[in-house]
Amino acid sequence: MSGNQRNAMVLQALQREAESRAAAGSALGLMASMYPICRSITGDGVRRTLDLIGERIPLERTEVPSGTPAFDWEIPREWNIRDAWIADASGRRVVDFRAHNLHVVNYSVPVDRTMTLQELEPHLHSIPERPDWIPYRTTYYRENWGFCLRHRDREVLGPGPYRVVIDSTLAPGHLTYAESVVEGSADGEAIVYTHTCHPSLANDNLSGIAVAVALASALRAERPRLTWRFIFGPGTIGSLAWLSRNERRLPRLRSGLVIGLLGDSGPLTYKRSRRGTAVTDRAAACVLTSAAHRGTLTDFEPYGYDERQFCSPGFDLPVGRLTRSSNANYPEYHSSADDLSLIVPEQLAGSIRAAAEMIAVLDANRRVLNLSPKGEPRLGKRGLYGSVGGAGPGEFEHALLWVLSLADGTNDLLAMAERSGVPFALLDRAASALQEAGLARTLEEAAAPSRASA
Ligand code: ZN
Repeated sequence: MSGNQRNAMVLQALQREAESRAAAGSALGLMASMYPICRSITGDGVRRTLDLIGERIPLERTEVPSGTPAFDWEIPREWNIRDAWIADASGRRVVDFRAHNLHVVNYSVPVDRTMTLQELEPHLHSIPERPDWIPYRTTYYRENWGFCLRHRDREVLGPGPYRVVIDSTLAPGHLTYAESVVEGSADGEAIVYTHTCHPSLANDNLSGIAVAVALASALRAERPRLTWRFIFGPGTIGSLAWLSRNERRLPRLRSGLVIGLLGDSGPLTYKRSRRGTAVTDRAAACVLTSAAHRGTLTDFEPYGYDERQFCSPGFDLPVGRLTRSSNANYPEYHSSADDLSLIVPEQLAGSIRAAAEMIAVLDANRRVLNLSPKGEPRLGKRGLYGSVGGAGPGEFEHALLWVLSLADGTNDLLAMAERSGVPFALLDRAASALQEAGLARTLEEAAAPSRASA
């Protein structure tokens, strides 16, 4: 049995209802263990999160020193926080980081002073329309500090004075990202990128991390055709840091997905790469528009997650994005209401099924050449065709005929699925059978064109 078929079997299991639900249950367990940690774009919260991921899949970490350039950016100083609070005159904490890590503006510089409410006001953030939610705010690239609180709590604050403490450090250190690599049998690589920088927020983006872990651990069970690289790094600066250290890899990159927001109640949404017709975009169209997933496809726009970096014109990589609700498009986005109760287990399972199918399609997709193109080869004598005539071809025979007809070297399996309407998995099975019978062979891909290789 070829490596390709074995891989398809593992990913097929994850596409089934029962297996995907079990995987979603396990993913929820991982999310619950990661949820309390205060993460940021750098710091020990990220490392503790990677420790938890590393208990499930092998991880290779990279620590990039502060000050290291990454194109037009540079790695910032490392941020760590131990405690923070606003206390009234009696010493009672009216805002307490230990109760919820969203209470502190992420990347706040250290503070220890006594202030009136009036002096404190410019440093407070709340959402008047959602008085029970704590907003999520950051100040990565501008030295500042602040607190986020429920509007209901803000409204009852007296004139003060208040003791205001943020016990944080912003010092030379590192940005940490990690990769889990599943080696493939053929040339070519694919990436799955998910951001790891958000503190106690569930859908954005513990769901992305947990789904990436589920996919990596399934893929590890067999040998895929492509080398699959799962990257866990902070948003924006993390993908920039990875790209700046991996330019030599990019000519081998066949496909990629940025994933996140995979557990909410919204429909699956695929955002096309900047190219719009990359193999990832075609695979998404093939998989997500099926009755099983009922997803939607949207065109590229230069706003969103790390696809912004992968699809920037200097790289223009075949990288799309898979989410349910898109960023900023659900009310709980970037607030304390994006907690574990927002995650719908069946939705998370559906995301795992769709992502597993996309990976299976991207991994199996290949150009095949018919080695007996003059007339139809005799399939019956090779045991590939039903021996009783007259009934017309069955599904599998039909797929064999389509592959033979379109395997002139110009079409990949996705193109065959698009033209014939035959399901991709059946064409893959037919192509493998023809290859094993010596009637067809895989055409190895030339290095994908990439401007980064210039
Ligand atoms: Zn976010």
